[in-house]
Amino acid sequence: MRTMPQPRLRQRFTDLLTRGWSVRMRVLTVMMAFMAVGLAVTGVLTYAAQFRALEQRINAELWQEHSELILIAEATDEAGGPAHTTVESVLLQATESAAPSDYESVITFLDDEPLYQPQAQDFAMLPRDSPDSPQVRDKLLAAHQPQRSVIVPLEAHGRDLQVLIASVNVEGDQAQGVFVVANDIGAQRRDLWQSVFTFAALSVITLLIAGWVGYVVTGRLLRPLEDLRSATEQITVEDLEYRVPVPDERDDIAALAQNFNRMLARIQAGFSEQRRFMSDVGHELRTPLTIVRGTLETTDVDDVEDVREAHGIAIEELDRMGRVVGDLSELAASTRPDYVKPRPLDLAAFTRSAFARIEHIAPRDWILARSVDVVADADEQRLTQAVVQLAANAVRYSEEGSRIRFGVDRVLGPEGPEIHVSVQDEGIGIEPEDQRRIFERFTRVDGSRGSGTGLGLPIVLAIAEGHDGVVRLLSQPGRGSTFTIVFPQFAAGDRAETDGETPSAPAGDTGTEGPGPAQTPTASRKDQA
Ligand code: ADP
Repeated sequence: MRTMPQPRLRQRFTDLLTRGWSVRMRVLTVMMAFMAVGLAVTGVLTYAAQFRALEQRINAELWQEHSELILIAEATDEAGGPAHTTVESVLLQATESAAPSDYESVITFLDDEPLYQPQAQDFAMLPRDSPDSPQVRDKLLAAHQPQRSVIVPLEAHGRDLQVLIASVNVEGDQAQGVFVVANDIGAQRRDLWQSVFTFAALSVITLLIAGWVGYVVTGRLLRPLEDLRSATEQITVEDLEYRVPVPDERDDIAALAQNFNRMLARIQAGFSEQRRFMSDVGHELRTPLTIVRGTLETTDVDDVEDVREAHGIAIEELDRMGRVVGDLSELAASTRPDYVKPRPLDLAAFTRSAFARIEHIAPRDWILARSVDVVADADEQRLTQAVVQLAANAVRYSEEGSRIRFGVDRVLGPEGPEIHVSVQDEGIGIEPEDQRRIFERFTRVDGSRGSGTGLGLPIVLAIAEGHDGVVRLLSQPGRGSTFTIVFPQFAAGDRAETDGETPSAPAGDTGTEGPGPAQTPTASRKDQA
């Protein structure tokens, strides 16, 4: 009866089909393939060498028997004459002194007849009771070459033999002797094959054990990765709250999980910021729409005065919407990495041209408080835009005829020379609790004046950050505010040596007139996150 596959196994199988091979399977497969190839190559090379060595050793042994035969044939007696005068005598002596090793068998022929076959050999070449003996004898004699000694392979009684067939002749004896030593190379090959099979079987067992151990170990090692994978599957755009478990070990996977969680936190922050942004924008645009609609609904179309008033309100609100949309797209553009393009900028010239632009915004006592004759890495257009925005705010929140100071300074900060661009007014000032808040989008504190969008300072901040800088604020309610854009003189990567100018404090910070340094919040987007 077939059993249903286990759910886990079935899951694995489906995973394999849908996702391809898991890392675990790939690691295992590569490991096993390497081991299998390694074992196979080792086996083949080792046994090929052993098979060749076997043949060489057997031939060497046979030639050794041949040398001993020659010694016997050429032996002399005490008188110096030949010790053996007949072929038979040589053959008998050779057979007797031959000490056949295991797998060896000796037999001699005198005039083609078997002469003597020692007992107690591993096997007999011509056993009397074997019906094959005559054929074997014929084969041996057929392979015999008169006056020569040869080693030939031969098959007899189902054995593969390596056979030395040596011709024995003695001067003065007409008889033809043949000395045969057969070595059962087949049996030794079989022994070797036996050990090949043992090696192969052990290799397979080793592979299976290694595979199993590898499976368990990789499973353990990769379990955190697997957890990470299944955890990531639970994360959706709707639910970014989830965090993957970080394993206790301090390894790559723990680092990966931590990075992943950090990335999730950033994505979550990004998404909530986006939602907040959408809701802010919606709210900000809904107000003028509601006003326009409400105004139009309550307008008496037959009353010219009423219509004129509604017309004025509608135009005003639509203008406001236009400004919000314009500032929003500016703010959106400010997130682009190329929004601010710092280039070497002559600050003295910049200060003059920026001052010329702001001093006509409104009738105020405009003062160019400080200017420095240095070059800094800055984006002239963006910096002017920020200064104009700060000046417009200074005008909006100060009285006609009051002083507004504009100054550009160079100060030696802890990380090198900094440029301070400041706008100082003697206006209404900002409550301490609002000083951070006003850099947030659409923030307009109580007492805000005019038709601002609440996007001016966020854009100034974006410009400062585009210069790797911040915006500092000194303000005292009732006395006025100083906004200072602070950024490094040299953009990161090309910080030059300072030109030796004596560092000085920014005009706004040391100003004897205007607001005192009651609060020094520094705005950067990191603060707002
Ligand atoms: P807005 O368009 O409303 O001026 P901003 O982002 O420029 O928007 O400013 C945000 C808020 O910060 C303003 O509504 C105002 O309350 C406050 N603010 C900005 N500049 C000054 C200033 N120089 N003096 C007093 N309050 C200021």
